Amino acid sequence: MENSKAKGLLIVISGPSGAGKGTICKRLLQKHPELNLSVSATTRLPRSGEIDGVNYYFMTKDEFKNKIEDGDFLEYAEVYDNYYGTPKSNVEEILNSGKDVILEIDIQGALKVKENSKNGIFIFILPPSMEELKQRIIKRGSETPESLMKRFKSAYKEINFVSRYNYAVVNDEVETATEKIEAIINAEKCRVDRLKHSILDSKEDLIHEQLYD
Ligand code: 5GP
Repeated sequence: MENSKAKGLLIVISGPSGAGKGTICKRLLQKHPELNLSVSATTRLPRSGEIDGVNYYFMTKDEFKNKIEDGDFLEYAEVYDNYYGTPKSNVEEILNSGKDVILEIDIQGALKVKENSKNGIFIFILPPSMEELKQRIIKRGSETPESLMKRFKSAYKEINFVSRYNYAVVNDEVETATEKIEAIINAEKCRVDRLKHSILDSKEDLIHEQLYD
């Protein structure tokens, strides 16, 4: 057997700001505590209720830049004047132990991960409409009018990147969108190219017997 322990799945959930990827990830994790959400680092200030080490690792720009130089990030991006990055060691550790990881990251970051990962699953969350997206960004209420406008304009451009992803899920209803992502994960786990180093190898004789003998 080439590899006795299969690696976990790297699941990247991405999409424009306001598409609802945060809400979907939260629901997915409630239903599946066995999934692990990667906690990102950021230079933006904590919003009310956010906890360091839980929602993000909050840090200064200098601290963040040192980590970039040390090669500590799987990917990082500048999003709305702040840096955001995925700590590499956490993700690798979880995947190597055979557990699945979810990255909830912006589109620039997701595309960087895609360049280096053949096996990742890339899911794009689409809003039901651009008007709905605008309303969601406004309702979030934590933005200044300028940053709100900035988020909306970039969301408009970002929608075009959907073609670079493996899956697109329209978030018209959180429960339905979450179920679609569960279905994607389940299907990915059944792919023969993912199974061939684990179950199929150990069942090789059995399969051979049933099919050919
Ligand atoms: P927020 O400030 O609303 O928490 O996040 C702003 C954007 O940054 C969201 O689109 C979020 O998905 C993205 N983001 C969060 N963490 C990361 C990360 O580690 N890397 C990248 N590239 N984007 C991230």
